[in-house]
Amino acid sequence: MIHYKTSEEVQIIKEGAQILGKAHGEVAKYIKEGVKTSFLDKIAEEYIRDNQGVPSFKGYNGFPAALCISVNEVVVHGFPSNYVLKDGDIISVDCGVFHQGFHSDSAYTYPVGEVSPQVLSLLKATKESLYLGIEKAILGNRIGDIGHAIQKHVEAKGYTVVRELVGHGLGRNLHEAPEVPNYGKKGSGPILKDGLIIAIEPMVNLGTRNIVQERDGWTIRTADRKQSAHFEHTIAIFEDRTEILTTHQYIEENFKF
Ligand code: MG
Ligand code: MG
Repeated sequence: MIHYKTSEEVQIIKEGAQILGKAHGEVAKYIKEGVKTSFLDKIAEEYIRDNQGVPSFKGYNGFPAALCISVNEVVVHGFPSNYVLKDGDIISVDCGVFHQGFHSDSAYTYPVGEVSPQVLSLLKATKESLYLGIEKAILGNRIGDIGHAIQKHVEAKGYTVVRELVGHGLGRNLHEAPEVPNYGKKGSGPILKDGLIIAIEPMVNLGTRNIVQERDGWTIRTADRKQSAHFEHTIAIFEDRTEILTTHQYIEENFKF
């Protein structure tokens, strides 16, 4: 069952999403060679708690941290750890904020230092696909239109789309109906209606689309250990427009690639 939100509820989510965007911006300042990923988690958690938020992920089904940190071949759901970022890595930082009863969710993948042109293209194409998906997320379209746009863009460049993990509705719960696959057929799936809030989050691989789960029960990596990119926004659909509620503005002010 899909929970459509009132404009007041959307406003609360938007406030939380600002806290989230600024937490991402704080983390962005420290994305460089020599930084421990657990330090990034500490930065995010402190910022969120200092600004009337609660990290959505910490404690979610037992997840141990405020951030999912997914480096190189890790697709999503990696743990912050003692790993030290090195030149040529890519790192996905995924974060959620719970604020006044509602969640928001967004992710960004960064290159660390000098990354190969091939991997940089993967990051750019994945980010572009997020916005192409959002362009199709308008009233009257269907969920499949979003995934179709994402899939078409990245597959044309020779990349592959992860199937087992998808975007999602969210609100009072971090994950709600509907599922939002990053692949699909035009005109398929649930219709997009006023008050729908969804997280769109393409996970795109350089090599095979196949993934495996590590024995920690969380970390998802590519089967061939080639790199994977992940970008995410929470968006709201209204009668007259679609609004991106989360923001990468504070990231992109601090970090350019
Ligand atoms: Mg996320
Ligand atoms: Mg999500």
